[in-house]
Amino acid sequence: MGGSVNMVEENLKLAYGENSDLIKEKRIAGVQALSGTGACRLFADFQKRFSPGSQIYIPVPTWVNHHNIWRDAYVPQNTFHYYHPESRGLDFASMMEDIKNAPNGSFFLLHACAHNPTGVDPTEEQWREISQQFKVKGHFAFFDMAYQGFASGDPERDAKSIRIFLEDGHLIGCAQSYAKNMGLYGQRVGCLSLVCDDEKQAVAVKSQLQQLARPMYSNPPIHGALIVSIILGDPELKKLWLKEVKGMADRIIGMRSALRENLEKLGSSLPWEHITKQIDMFCYSGMTPKQVDRMTKEFHIYITRNGRISMARVNTGNIGYLANVIHEVTK
Ligand code: PLP
Repeated sequence: MGGSVNMVEENLKLAYGENSDLIKEKRIAGVQALSGTGACRLFADFQKRFSPGSQIYIPVPTWVNHHNIWRDAYVPQNTFHYYHPESRGLDFASMMEDIKNAPNGSFFLLHACAHNPTGVDPTEEQWREISQQFKVKGHFAFFDMAYQGFASGDPERDAKSIRIFLEDGHLIGCAQSYAKNMGLYGQRVGCLSLVCDDEKQAVAVKSQLQQLARPMYSNPPIHGALIVSIILGDPELKKLWLKEVKGMADRIIGMRSALRENLEKLGSSLPWEHITKQIDMFCYSGMTPKQVDRMTKEFHIYITRNGRISMARVNTGNIGYLANVIHEVTK
């Protein structure tokens, strides 16, 4: 029920660090999960079973499926401030207030990197403050890490938020996905891990996770897990993968700069620096639903109505057209 042991091992090294003491001390309960979604759902069910009556704090906005996942697991939801529409950045002060005001020992869902849909992440310094405040309040951080490596091009750097929490001695949870960073969307390969007090507790927690998996899907598929464990377990293949991940991330970073430059050259009077400040696949453009509808109907450019552009779809062939249309509808 826990899936490929090799894959989980490699996976934990990627999230927690090659030389993690937690791994050496066998303090992490890890199971293969049905990609990032399945890892979140397994955790939500675990929360419901072992912390009945607890709620989950979810950022505003978040990946919409988070709401469905915790709803279907019958875990009540609360929210915390995250995005600041005026600056198109992080509303750090309000976020910290919400963390302070939540009852001690609350569960929080955090995007480890490349926040979906905004592309807005806390800085390293801000993560440190968040972690400290979590410590004061005794909150539990559940990290959803669907884009490790895809954000900065370096999986180590993208796991910084998690590492900061671990340095501070938190017992965290983590959902990992290989849908984006290995292009394995259709294979549904990911991992759920929970850091425990000691090895004995980790064995017990893993066993409970397996018992949750058994009546839901029995066991996860093997093919994608083999791809992941073979690549991550072979130094040469891993090096190649890291190079390709960096190539993907750098291409998106390049497209962000080019889109901003194009808009500025066209003489747009709006500020566009958030395009390059935000990170990874998603650009929360700040366009209104009315402007998005115009883009769709008149120019056949399709983005979500909250103004989120998938930067992965932008390339040298279409960037000029995209910039012209954005300029046109935001005049
Ligand atoms: N979490 C976040 C924040 C996401 O953006 C996604 C994918 O869109 C996922 C989890 C889950 O992805 P998957 O189930 O395909 O691994």
